[in-house]
Amino acid sequence: MSNIAILAGDGIGPEVMIEAKKVLACIADKFQITINTTDYDVGGAAIDNHGNALPPATLAGCEQADAILFGSVGGPKWANLPPTEQPERCALLGLRGHFDLFCNMRPATLQPALASLSTLRSDISAQGFDVLVIRELTGDIYFGEPKGRRGEGDEETGFDSMFYSRQEIKRIAHLAFQAAKKRNNKVTSVDKANVLATSQLWRQVVEEVASEYPEIDYEHLYVDNAAMQLVRDPNQFDVMLCPNLFGDILSDICAMITGSMGLLPSASLNAEGFGMYEPAGGSAPDIAGQGIANPIAQILSAALMLRYSLDQDKAAQIIEQAVTSALDNRILTADLLPEDSKNQAKTTSEVGDYICQ
Ligand code: ATP
Ligand code: MG
Repeated sequence: MSNIAILAGDGIGPEVMIEAKKVLACIADKFQITINTTDYDVGGAAIDNHGNALPPATLAGCEQADAILFGSVGGPKWANLPPTEQPERCALLGLRGHFDLFCNMRPATLQPALASLSTLRSDISAQGFDVLVIRELTGDIYFGEPKGRRGEGDEETGFDSMFYSRQEIKRIAHLAFQAAKKRNNKVTSVDKANVLATSQLWRQVVEEVASEYPEIDYEHLYVDNAAMQLVRDPNQFDVMLCPNLFGDILSDICAMITGSMGLLPSASLNAEGFGMYEPAGGSAPDIAGQGIANPIAQILSAALMLRYSLDQDKAAQIIEQAVTSALDNRILTADLLPEDSKNQAKTTSEVGDYICQ
């Protein structure tokens, strides 16, 4: 029996989470496994209900769970709160920090059925695109102290500190090389070592770790070049090892190469293997509440949860196959369709229902 903490959050979070829960219920039934889900408030919704984006009851529920399935947080309603009370910073970074979820894995694969619809559709080199972004998630400029905040004292300045320790870089680098062994034996480490001291340390430590994996093809790229190369020839990459900030940005590029922000799941794990699973995209306030969001990223996040936290690889595979089948059969939400065929779009729940079937 597994206990899952469900944190749907804001924006499209609750809409796509309904579909992921439907799929989980189906798969539990099919595989005769017991998956208990408990919903907790988080993000802007929790600010509205409890005055706190990450209430103690939510944190306690997560601590007792076997895994966390997360939706998304934030939106225009809470955008003007001070930085320390922002849903993203408070809830999302709060959870990542609290559970030390330093390893964020973002697999991005271009599904054959979508090759002609991909954002880079005129660039056939995106065919066969299959990249795993491994993003360090608990260091870098997101967590560096001190921070100087506009609006808190000095209205005229704002600053953030970028920070990495040797140990933080080493542990994520090892995971990237181990992941590459199970894939296509190539690691590209991304940094900005020509400008940043943290990146110089990053490059030095990753090179040391690389020397322990002579069988892996290793290279490093400056982040600006990596962004350019991803758009120019995405298939040259296998595992991309990134610090927190660069990984955030590059994984969004990877998402769009596959067709939509609404397709890609992510797993965030700590050293003990405890995980939080969430879509690579955010709360998408521009389309929230309309029943048109793509639920696939949330559903595939549930599949990753089955694989990594519940040891149910077969169940994860079945879900992934059902998603491919939905795409092959053109059960597509609007984000995946060109402007002139948006009228053929399926709703969020239609896609969820198809995948369940
Ligand atoms: P956040 O700060 O939470 O990341 P955001 O304003 O950056 O919010 P995202 O959620 O990152 O918004 O979305 C970026 C774009 O991708 C938006 O236009 C959004 O509509 C689209 N998008 C993201 N997720 C989905 C989805 N599941 N289905 C369809 N479109 C999506
Ligand atoms: Mg975003």
